[in-house]
Amino acid sequence: MAKSRKEVDIVRGDILYDDGAHKFIWLGWEEQEEEGLVQTNQYLIVDNGVGVALDPGGIHVFSRVVANIARYIDIEKVEHLFYTHQDPDVSSGVTLWLSVVPNARVYISKHWVRFLPHFGVFDIKKMVPIDDGGGRINLPGGNYLEIIPAHFLHSEANFHLYDPKSKILFTGDLGTAIFPMGQRYVYVENFDSHVKFMEGFHKRYLVSNIAIRKYLDRISRLDVEAIAPQHGAIINKKEHVKQFFNWLSGLKCGIDIIDEIYR
Ligand code: FE
Repeated sequence: MAKSRKEVDIVRGDILYDDGAHKFIWLGWEEQEEEGLVQTNQYLIVDNGVGVALDPGGIHVFSRVVANIARYIDIEKVEHLFYTHQDPDVSSGVTLWLSVVPNARVYISKHWVRFLPHFGVFDIKKMVPIDDGGGRINLPGGNYLEIIPAHFLHSEANFHLYDPKSKILFTGDLGTAIFPMGQRYVYVENFDSHVKFMEGFHKRYLVSNIAIRKYLDRISRLDVEAIAPQHGAIINKKEHVKQFFNWLSGLKCGIDIIDEIYR
């Protein structure tokens, strides 16, 4: 059921799916919008008391994210940290996170494993390198999360996470919207007017339409109810999900428009 923006507590976050044993939670935003700082979304999946944090971010958002996770589970019950890719807004807090969830495993592409320790010293045995084809995170209730390849969108070695239980697809930087100050909203209500906030980012950051098409082909077998991106608004209406994939399939970006970029 889609929620209107008035019902959402942006600082505390919102529950996107809850069947009692399994939850998918958006972990809120900073109360004040900040000029010059890309706003980020963090998410928590809870399955039978075990937590999975999705792109939990760096020091800038750490206290809010920890406080909001603690509303749902004890922080030490976060057993998996999933990183879509290597960017600082995604993974620079890895050392900080492992100081509060020392038993967690850290999932990131095998191509970024050697780079992550530059964000701080930690035990690299905690890392689970993901092969290019993707993989799974098994959850205690017999449920699982599917790690979906999304290479070159934008990072060269990049993954999304599909939750078959909630049918929510966590897409990292795909679906990013950059809002002008004072215009942010949590849920997409009008897809056509939302496109203008997504267009600039997708055209410049994604590598090519070839990568988009390959990805769309890969996810075509998934039943996606909602898209949860790492920046911008959540696409939680199924017709908007379809519109989003249609819009993407025709998008020229990155090296497709390299002459425009070099101009
Ligand atoms: Fe990124």
